[in-house]
Amino acid sequence: MDNLRQTLIDSLQSYYADDSDLLETVRDLVKKEGEEVYPTLLNILTHLDFNAHDAKTNWDRILTHRNLLETKLDRHVRLITAMCDYFCEVSKNLETPTMIELRILEETRKYSRSDGLTGLFNRRFFDEALEGEMKRAQRYNGKFSLIFFDLDHFKSLNDTYGHQAGDLTLKKVAEIMILGKRTEDLACRYGGEELTLVLPETQKINALVIAERIRQKVEELKLEFDGKPFNVTLSGGVASYPSDAKDSKSLIHAADIALYQAKQSGRNKIFLHALDKRHYLRIDFASNIQVNQVDQKSGQITAQGKNFSSSGLLFESSVPIEIGTHVKLEMTDLGLEKPITVKARVVRVEKFDRHYDIGVSFLEINETAENEVAQALAKNLGIPVTQVLKKNHFEV
Ligand code: GH3
Ligand code: MG
Ligand code: MG
Repeated sequence: MDNLRQTLIDSLQSYYADDSDLLETVRDLVKKEGEEVYPTLLNILTHLDFNAHDAKTNWDRILTHRNLLETKLDRHVRLITAMCDYFCEVSKNLETPTMIELRILEETRKYSRSDGLTGLFNRRFFDEALEGEMKRAQRYNGKFSLIFFDLDHFKSLNDTYGHQAGDLTLKKVAEIMILGKRTEDLACRYGGEELTLVLPETQKINALVIAERIRQKVEELKLEFDGKPFNVTLSGGVASYPSDAKDSKSLIHAADIALYQAKQSGRNKIFLHALDKRHYLRIDFASNIQVNQVDQKSGQITAQGKNFSSSGLLFESSVPIEIGTHVKLEMTDLGLEKPITVKARVVRVEKFDRHYDIGVSFLEINETAENEVAQALAKNLGIPVTQVLKKNHFEV
């Protein structure tokens, strides 16, 4: 598509004085490349977006309009002049057009960081930002996550409600992403209907919560075009550095695999990247946890979370806790407004030189509206939250 754009720009520049040959070039290009030439040409010249059919109709009308102007003015009228008059006075697609040399406009476009339709960062910026984040994380032993979203059945949405309805959908989904992300996260349009979020200093579980929040908001979005209501959903894949990949290319690949699995399992889902889905999924969880022993008066222990796994949660403690003990865990730094409290039973204790690894299985999670982690995990596993909560452990 970018090649076609460049060919058209080159033709426009070489025919700047006399554009009669341009019409022939356009006709030849249509024969070779198909009717996508029309929307691309009109987009270069006007920044308006049309589907191929509407673009062709407008193109034909512009040529007729030029003939009319030439007859009335009794002189040659440039295509761009006719086009401006047509879009302002006849079709009224343009209200306050501006004038700029094509060469200057294209240069600005080349250095632009944002995508014209959605206002999200564009692919070029995404590539640079991801590489920058990767270098930073590698240098400082950091972590970060990447979410890949792809709209579900978007081709059929375009076919049913029209290309402009598709564009409107992309804009609205982009708005949801911008509202749902945190200030430091970067929302980008990777291409077409593929959108990404780069989440600096974010572990996988938090990325999942954010992805799930966006998925839900998109599902609830009520869209309307030409008086016809419709809905859209999206699927997402989450991958994190360093647990899933050690460089940008592999991280994109990992998120893409997870996205593919989300599509395969029925769409409208967020999947976490897991190297081997047949074994249990382990989600890194390196946050502080406050541990209280329920039946004892001993004080609170601050432990370091390690991961969620099929047997519940594993954390590191400087003191041992006896197997069978009931504990109350409080997880505060999940990026949520309220801490999540979980009742659990110690099922495994392993002694190391300077610490103990303690495995617990969950007995009960506080069922507040803020319990997004449980919701997100449940959704990720395709089982209802109540079922996760009733079970004696998180089967992740
Ligand atoms: P899936 O659920 O498997 O992702 O199905 P899909 O139909 O979304 O996937 P596919 O990749 O086959 O189609 C993507 C479609 O997105 C094709 C293209 O027409 C449409 N599309 C891509 N970019 C744009 C855009 O900027 N505007 C509009 N309206 N449509 C776009
Ligand atoms: Mg796609
Ligand atoms: Mg799609």
